[in-house]
Amino acid sequence: MARYTDAVCRLCRREDQKLFLKGDRCYTEKCAANRRPYPPGQHGQGRSKTSEYGRQLREKQKAKRYYGILESQFRGYFELASKRKGKTGENLLSILETRLDNTIYRLGFAMSRAEARQLVLHGHFMVNGRKVNIPSFLVKPGMIISLRDRSRNLEKIKSVIEANASRTPPRWLEYDPNASIAKVSTMPIREDIDFPIEEQLIVELYSK
Ligand code: SF4
Repeated sequence: MARYTDAVCRLCRREDQKLFLKGDRCYTEKCAANRRPYPPGQHGQGRSKTSEYGRQLREKQKAKRYYGILESQFRGYFELASKRKGKTGENLLSILETRLDNTIYRLGFAMSRAEARQLVLHGHFMVNGRKVNIPSFLVKPGMIISLRDRSRNLEKIKSVIEANASRTPPRWLEYDPNASIAKVSTMPIREDIDFPIEEQLIVELYSK
């Protein structure tokens, strides 16, 4: 599947927001969004006010980039969200949060969503006792996510878990750090998602 492979810090600068795409580096003074807080490119510092359409487009791009999703898949999530009860924008964020790669990142098994995607692809995790290597797999309330026994002692995974030991998992995940097992207790709601985004603008964009 096609993936964005250019310098990811450009994405944060383009969206004028830290999207935390590079793990550790995002929390240091090397962060490009802090050092160069203006859009990349020749005209980066000269861009004028954006239109309503421009704002809607930027919010959609921001969400796609934050979760590392391409357009067609993002559109599919929107269609799914619009069929569920409740507000479509909030449903959309809730669905994005429950992707397996995001869940692994939220649990602190990876420093970034990209790293979480790699870990899932390499088969390090199980859902309800069965190996799942599909990053877009959507977890549901009641499901149990666990690190596979053979992956527990891998130095790379151990060091990330240690580094993230003080991170608190979101309310919708019950996590037992000693066993490296988590249960999805409920679907995430808007208040559980700390990503500053105006999801209503995405709904307006796709509703045109
Ligand atoms: Fe974005 Fe992280 Fe790069 Fe900073 S270091 S610009 S937060 S990806």
